[in-house]
Amino acid sequence: MSADIEGCKAALAHLDLDDNPKTVKQKSRDFFWYSPTLKARLDHVTADFVVAPRTEAEVIEAVRTAFAHDVPVTTRGAGTGNYGQAMPLAGGMVLHMKHMAAVKEIGPGRVVAEAGAIMAEVDKACRAQSGQELRLHPSTVNTASIGGFIAGGSGGVGSIRWGGLRDAGNILSIRLVTCEAEPRVLTLTGDEIHKANHAYGVNGIITEVAVPLAPAYDWVDVLVGFETWEGANRYADMVANQDAILLKELATVAAPVGHDYFLRHKKFVGRETHLAVAMVAPHALDAFLTVTARDRRAEVLFRSDRDDAQGLPPAYELAWNHTTLRALRVDPSITYLQVLYGAPDHVEKILRMTEIFGDEVPGHVEFVRMDGRVRGAGLPLVRFTTEERLEEIMAIHEAEGCPIFNPHRYTLEEGGMKQTDPLQLAFKRETDPKGLLNPGKMIAWDDPDYDFETNQLYLFPGLAAAS
Ligand SMILES: Cc1cc2nc3c(=O)[nH]c(=O)nc-3n(C[C@H](O)[C@H](O)[C@H](O)COP(=O)(O)OP(=O)(O)OC[C@H]3O[C@@H](n4cnc5c(N)ncnc54)[C@H](O)[C@@H]3O)c2cc1C
Repeated sequence: MSADIEGCKAALAHLDLDDNPKTVKQKSRDFFWYSPTLKARLDHVTADFVVAPRTEAEVIEAVRTAFAHDVPVTTRGAGTGNYGQAMPLAGGMVLHMKHMAAVKEIGPGRVVAEAGAIMAEVDKACRAQSGQELRLHPSTVNTASIGGFIAGGSGGVGSIRWGGLRDAGNILSIRLVTCEAEPRVLTLTGDEIHKANHAYGVNGIITEVAVPLAPAYDWVDVLVGFETWEGANRYADMVANQDAILLKELATVAAPVGHDYFLRHKKFVGRETHLAVAMVAPHALDAFLTVTARDRRAEVLFRSDRDDAQGLPPAYELAWNHTTLRALRVDPSITYLQVLYGAPDHVEKILRMTEIFGDEVPGHVEFVRMDGRVRGAGLPLVRFTTEERLEEIMAIHEAEGCPIFNPHRYTLEEGGMKQTDPLQLAFKRETDPKGLLNPGKMIAWDDPDYDFETNQLYLFPGLAAAS
């Protein structure tokens, strides 16, 4: 199967199509460079052209034409994914959703938006029209698209209250276009949602989503300081379990990360200070401060309702992968991991990892609710030396009972549970019979017998063709 790029471009020339190599390369990149492993392997990747549809009918036309010309299609929201999810490994077309940004319907507890809508814009519209807000958003809310979050993200700000995208109820429906001779439009609800949730767009182009809303608050950002990492995590776990205190975010960050990398908050944070970072509903602040005062180790260092917050980033931009971003800006050699510290001994696991690695792996834990229980979703920083050492650090985590969701891999399987998701694979057979959608991201499609036990990075054969 060889792609007829020129034929496809000619047939779509009346759409918003860009084939300037410089801008096409820009639109072919995401935050893959977060990982030194991916940076070394994906830097050359580029598509042949970009199409930005204005309507679902144009999506259908673009995909129908790509199918007829055997051209790979990689959908792009805002390109903030950080595992190379949006990198067009086999070249071809990038389908950029930027024009499909309408907020279509806001009702009690629910918003329907086109996939390319930037999440902060959706949130703003919901606040203005209904006094509601998005329950869940990534820390990239100001730049990421809602379709990209559902196709490529996992959870984030709000997960302390609402869990992650995989939890039933956090996505209400997904509307998508298949990649066939005659593309179909499908609406997924219930368990079907998981066919396309966190599937990197390998089995359909999401054009519209419905997600739940909650009452909107002017969240108060609070930084609480501790002399010990243990103190910070025991405190965070205690607060996370206070069911009556409404939080939108709760994370811990080990010293010296707050002081060295949160540059605009530096004046509040000593170099030896370990932090808890929280977003608290205004009506819950008194209770939050009351339970904080009960912990003699805790010192409130900053409150956005009390201190001058002018020019400071919001607390959620100190959290999730923004912690890593801030560190990278100061020290480009830093990278990170994604770790699950499972309940009920999540705090012990967090402390054990710090005991093993010390300042080579500075701690960063997002406290989240999963299946009704508080756990730690770790995004610790890593002071990177070699790929071998990085692999060793991950292997030690796994051996100590702390599963890794490897952010140094671009495939669904290696970045996830290291096994095929049969539901997503079966759906791909149905929706993408030629395997044109985001090639190279689902190992099970390319190599059903792949052995995940080797722990070697899967190299998509088409990657060489795109270089
Ligand atoms: C600083 C930083 C902080 C982050 N914080 C978080 C966080 O808190 N939580 C979190 O989950 N992630 C986080 N991420 C990762 C990423 O920002 C989010 O997952 C984000 O929601 C992705 O949205 P996007 O529009 O940029 O998607 P993109 O990067 O453009 O795409 C992501 C994936 O989805 C596919 N895709 C995009 N749009 C569609 C569509 N319409 N149909 C089908 N497939 C599609 C792409 O092909 C790609 O595989 C962070 C990343 C960075 C760099």
